[in-house]
Amino acid sequence: MGCIFCDILNKKIPAKIIYEDESAVAFEDINPQAPVHALVIPRKHISTTLDLKEGDNNLIGHLFQIANKIARDKNVAERGFRLVMNCNPESGQTVFHIHLHILGGRHMHWPPG
Ligand code: AMP
Ligand code: ZN
Repeated sequence: MGCIFCDILNKKIPAKIIYEDESAVAFEDINPQAPVHALVIPRKHISTTLDLKEGDNNLIGHLFQIANKIARDKNVAERGFRLVMNCNPESGQTVFHIHLHILGGRHMHWPPG
């Protein structure tokens, strides 16, 4: 089965890429839910957080470091921003290649709904 985020990584479909390195890529969400809405993904295809192995621990930490950099670059770091990684359908996960959402630029509500 195809994976839309693997297609973005492999430049088969376009995206507004804002960061990339040997293990991860970040791009603007196509349907932004806040003034800042980007996604950070690993180059390695991992379907859900439940599929993470011990060996992926550094990779996951790296995704958070990239998210921090993007939050600073987009000037929401001090104001505040939300990092979200949904897991499985009831959480709202629709793309089964793990991705860290960075949401900012407006007040975030809690509970998230
Ligand atoms: P989730 O619902 O947590 O799985 O998040 C999937 C996110 O991917 C949603 O916020 C979508 O708007 C976003 N998305 C889906 N397709 C694309 C795409 N081609 N380029 C950028 N973002 C996308
Ligand atoms: Zn994938």
